Amino acid sequence: MSSSKNKDIQCSFCQGSSQNSKLLIEGNGCHICNICIEKSYHLIVEDVSQKDQKEIIVKKPHEIKQKLDEVVIGQETAKKSISVAVYNHYKRIINLDSKEVFNIDKSNILFIGPTGTGKTLLAKTLAQSLNVPFVIVDATVLTEAGYVGEDVENILVRLYHESGYDIDKTQKGIIYIDELDKITKKNANQSITRDVSGEGVQQSLLKILEGTIANIPPKGGRKHPEQPLVKIDTTNILFICGGTFEGLTKIIERRIKGGGIGFDRKMNSNLVSTNLLNKSTPEDVIHYGFIPELMGRLPVLTTLDYISKEAMLEILTKPKNSIIKQYQHLLQLDNVDLIFTDKALDKIAEIALERKTGARALRSILEDIMLDIMYEIPSKKNIKTCTIDHNVVLKKNKPKISYYTKTA
Ligand code: ADP
Repeated sequence: MSSSKNKDIQCSFCQGSSQNSKLLIEGNGCHICNICIEKSYHLIVEDVSQKDQKEIIVKKPHEIKQKLDEVVIGQETAKKSISVAVYNHYKRIINLDSKEVFNIDKSNILFIGPTGTGKTLLAKTLAQSLNVPFVIVDATVLTEAGYVGEDVENILVRLYHESGYDIDKTQKGIIYIDELDKITKKNANQSITRDVSGEGVQQSLLKILEGTIANIPPKGGRKHPEQPLVKIDTTNILFICGGTFEGLTKIIERRIKGGGIGFDRKMNSNLVSTNLLNKSTPEDVIHYGFIPELMGRLPVLTTLDYISKEAMLEILTKPKNSIIKQYQHLLQLDNVDLIFTDKALDKIAEIALERKTGARALRSILEDIMLDIMYEIPSKKNIKTCTIDHNVVLKKNKPKISYYTKTA
């Protein structure tokens, strides 16, 4: 291949002469001009990106779980069950066009677990590892259409924006609905602007969970007659709902206690002392205040465990983006080694446990410990290490600083 500027030569594609083009490249007995190269390049890029959008790479359950393991500590059952659910979900989408009559149901997921145990983190990590658009919505701000508040269809607008205004990508995205437990039928809401029972919101959610073609205003806000609407089919959007479901254990306990003839009282009291949430069933959730149709559309019910002290310690240090690693990295940029003693980590985990907000407490505890250090260190010279022990955590001492020894 070589370039040519010979006046008599024509591009074999557009027949343009070399005078009209900046460059002609010579191949095996033919030529191509720079204009045709540019046009071909754009055609290739368009074609490849269209294929990318249509092709979903279905990861196997253990591959999905591996990705979750890198970020989410513990929660083995939840990780396993969503890995299988997501695998089935995307396999289902791929097989939608096949001739088989067999219909696989959508595997929307319901997470039940205490606050700060990783429900949102799981959903977010999942979307990241699958490279699909993802939005988090708070169920408490949702209202039925026509009420003041966020219309359920607005969730789709947000997912559409997140996908870069790509309908195809939107229709394969993941929506995480947090605090689902706050829209129960019985939960009397003080606000007069929304329906008092929450049942109306459940009905609206049911529609998009079941699969509907929603007409959304592409820029959000109210639908105006002059604004053309975008059609979004929600059939293949994966919905993950989460909530703490406070008080659900009472319903479970009552069900178990009323266990009928021959029910072992001793086993009964043992059960109460373990994490009762693990025993929850869709019927319990219906009892809690949900319409059975909505539960029917959330077939994968999985519970998350309380964060133990051991898990708290792992969360601090193990994930590839753990909070301790983040601070260490920040100080490393100033050439300072940040060291936490085992006792310090232990103390941080203990304080976090006391706050009863799961692993969520860790960030604020760390921020409190690190504020002065992050403020002082960048303006000091020659610092080699900064060591945090348990007394620093307890604010009884300042961190130990060591310096580089000056070489003559
Ligand atoms: P929730 O269960 O209330 O949705 P989140 O997923 O929002 O809790 O967790 C809050 C923060 O706590 C996360 O951003 C993460 O840093 C940390 N966290 C909670 N659970 C875990 C976990 N199992 N593994 C790793 N980090 C966790």
